[in-house]
Amino acid sequence: MLNMQTTQRTTQEWQQLDAAHHMHPFSDMGSLNKAGSRVITRAKGVYLWDSNGNKIIDGMAGLWCVNVGYGRQELADAARDQMLELPYYNTFFKTTHPPVIELSQQLSELTPDGFNHFFYCNSGSEGNDTVLRIVHQYWAALGKPQRKVVISRINGYHGSTIAGASLGGMGYMHEQMPSKVENIVHIHQPYWYGEAAEGVTPEAFGKARAAELEAKILELGADNVAAFIGEPFQGAGGVIFPPESYWPEIQRICDKYGILLVADEVIGGFGRTGEWFAHQHFGFKPDIMTLAKGLTSGYVPMGAVAIHDKVALPIIEAGDFNHGMTYSGHPVAAAVALANIAILRDGGVVDQVKNETGPYFQKSLREALSSSPIIGEIHGTGLVAGMQLCEEKNPRKRFANGGDVGLICRDHCFGNNLIMRATGDRMLLSPPLVISRTEIDELVDKAARCIALTAKDLG
Ligand code: PLP
Repeated sequence: MLNMQTTQRTTQEWQQLDAAHHMHPFSDMGSLNKAGSRVITRAKGVYLWDSNGNKIIDGMAGLWCVNVGYGRQELADAARDQMLELPYYNTFFKTTHPPVIELSQQLSELTPDGFNHFFYCNSGSEGNDTVLRIVHQYWAALGKPQRKVVISRINGYHGSTIAGASLGGMGYMHEQMPSKVENIVHIHQPYWYGEAAEGVTPEAFGKARAAELEAKILELGADNVAAFIGEPFQGAGGVIFPPESYWPEIQRICDKYGILLVADEVIGGFGRTGEWFAHQHFGFKPDIMTLAKGLTSGYVPMGAVAIHDKVALPIIEAGDFNHGMTYSGHPVAAAVALANIAILRDGGVVDQVKNETGPYFQKSLREALSSSPIIGEIHGTGLVAGMQLCEEKNPRKRFANGGDVGLICRDHCFGNNLIMRATGDRMLLSPPLVISRTEIDELVDKAARCIALTAKDLG
């Protein structure tokens, strides 16, 4: 906790200092500084408090990461104890330490069969940088270094480092980069509501979007293609769940051409869908997984790449892997991850999302919102959902100024002490996995009220 002198500042003082010295991520600093940031001072469970004393329900688990909720003593104890025992040592130069060993062993048990090796970093972005290195090293080890191209998707999100943003398909991020990493190409996303022509079933659309992968592989030559990467459901792109036909077809194509399949599980991992990893919900089998966020529930930064034996063993056999960060496998982060996994697993949180709170949340949300004149579709499973704002439901018609409508709704959320994220014309919810039924009722009621207020504003 900060000392008394600093915690006694007024909201206005915090805002002035923030505007004077703090550059925020993904923000228009000019307008933010004029408006003043909201100052969050403490949190417990699924609630946040701001410097004006408002109690806010967090429908986004921070940035999709606080899976075990705020204020967990077990995680604080794990960090404190580890800091006193061994606050830091590196995992370079033939050294290791108990927390990273225990974590790797536990992750090998939690992840599907064949995932027995884990490389650590500090974030999802660094995880995806690492994925590029691993994919390259794998093909080099197999004597096929020309297999360099990684295929990703427009509107996919894989982080904000140069490699993460290059893998991602966010045009507005590409525009602000000095250059993109070479040998990354993008195909369309499987966003049926947003992009399909009327009359195409989701089933046919999913297959058509997967067929773009095969067409791209044939265009490039299969011998030049290294991997396909995708989020099992797109998170930052708007919680877009692909039609059921999509992932089986992607799997078939990757298998057919011997291309590595990478699941970016940074949002989907650690219970969000009610499965430990989101690809298990969709029933496909990746060769590599990127992990972060829910790995430590955001209490301390940590990312990891889970590597299937098929990929790990040739790399290990090949010799030096010249990649690593000072904080790869940080002992405090590893200790927190272990405490976090214990809560999710032994506390039955993931099971509860699958059998109890997830179905209840999905049902409540649909009951409260399906009849809204501006909700065109609701996607989601477990404790994640995306709601499509629309001008007309049937035939479906999106708002011409969809992003503005999303911001109107977000302003209402702000005013009603609800955190619900707007991504263009989609409203997103992804609360802490420990949310109770009563808290789900409150979350859904507030979301419905904010959507109703938005509909009223639009006339
Ligand atoms: N991959 C996915 C799917 C993400 O959603 C994110 C962040 O939201 C990242 C990667 C990047 O993670 P980080 O912000 O920890 O670098």
